[in-house]
Amino acid sequence: MKVYLDNAASAPMDPEVFEHMKPFFFEMYGNPSSTHAHGRALKNIIEQARRTIATNLNARPGEIIFTSGGTEADNMAITGAVEGMGIKHIISSPIEHHAVTHTIEHLEAQGRVTVSWLSVDGKGHIDLAELTELLKAHQHCLVSLMHANNEIGTLHDIQAIGELCREHGALFHSDTVQTMGGFRFDMETLPVDLATASAHKFYGPKGVGFLYVRKGINLPPLIHGGSQERSMRAGTENLASIAGMAFAYDKCQKMHDHKSQLLWDLKTYMQEQLREAIPGVSFNGDTSREKSIPTVLNTSFPGEAEDSLLLFHLDIQGISVSGGSACNSGANLGSHVLRTIGLTGAPLVQAVRFSFGPQNTREELDFVIGKLKEIVPASVM
Ligand code: PLP
Repeated sequence: MKVYLDNAASAPMDPEVFEHMKPFFFEMYGNPSSTHAHGRALKNIIEQARRTIATNLNARPGEIIFTSGGTEADNMAITGAVEGMGIKHIISSPIEHHAVTHTIEHLEAQGRVTVSWLSVDGKGHIDLAELTELLKAHQHCLVSLMHANNEIGTLHDIQAIGELCREHGALFHSDTVQTMGGFRFDMETLPVDLATASAHKFYGPKGVGFLYVRKGINLPPLIHGGSQERSMRAGTENLASIAGMAFAYDKCQKMHDHKSQLLWDLKTYMQEQLREAIPGVSFNGDTSREKSIPTVLNTSFPGEAEDSLLLFHLDIQGISVSGGSACNSGANLGSHVLRTIGLTGAPLVQAVRFSFGPQNTREELDFVIGKLKEIVPASVM
């Protein structure tokens, strides 16, 4: 049996999404910027995709900018706010994805911004009182805080954070990569100015995403060239992927309640079964229904061994999971998120991120738990 529990790294593409993309590889070709019939037909497809996404978000189509994925959208939001909106100070947290932290650090190293890193508690929550104090001290700054953490699944209260930002005249960017498919957002009421999405996290293709940019916010392009995306992102559009992403997003939103129920069932079951089967197991981050996402369960196993050893044993058994985040694997630096929430000794903690998709079953989880019962005692050094 092969079990894939790494959906937060990349979810398998929905076959219906692929069917929807197929015509754009062979039957419908040309350049969407061409003014002839072939080109116009493709431009229509792009604008239809934009409308589909905007309608689901209760946003305006002009507020959606297509990008090559979450990393580019995060870079565009943060760098664009500095270049286009006169931002000189950024408030963020050390448990953001590296697409955010490294972008901020790069701008800081260039002397273009100063930065305040919020403290984070043992479950991955920030302190709103600390944020308020920083907002009072720094007028017209950018706040960049993710919705759900990709490694531990803890949710930030972006409604409350956004309201504080509005009150203090700050711009608010949220990396919503882990929640854009699984949550319903209403941009009319959610006080977020810039939000990031990546299609391969919601059963769409890899290498495509979007940035929501609230009307009135002017971001200069990160990539210069032609006038695609209303001159905010140059380059011939990734048409098939854009169409696939819009289809995948629409489908996720339509199946929202059903999927959410399925995923919570899997996460709860896994947590209960692990507690029963493995003495000394513990869970990292917030795992509650109110303050976490159903797709991620970060677990520490007893022992002092490197998590890579446990991952290696699981891999041999046909089980694909992640240690920190996939983007870090190979770098062997341990997880910056686990270190920040106080898992001292990380990477010398056997932490495994199980991340679920609606295609997973309880039978698969039983298989994984059976294997863990054999592996965990053996991998403790
Ligand atoms: N932000 C978060 C929270 C993520 O989980 C990821 C991907 O793992 C990204 C950004 C980067 O997205 P992409 O893979 O589309 O570049």
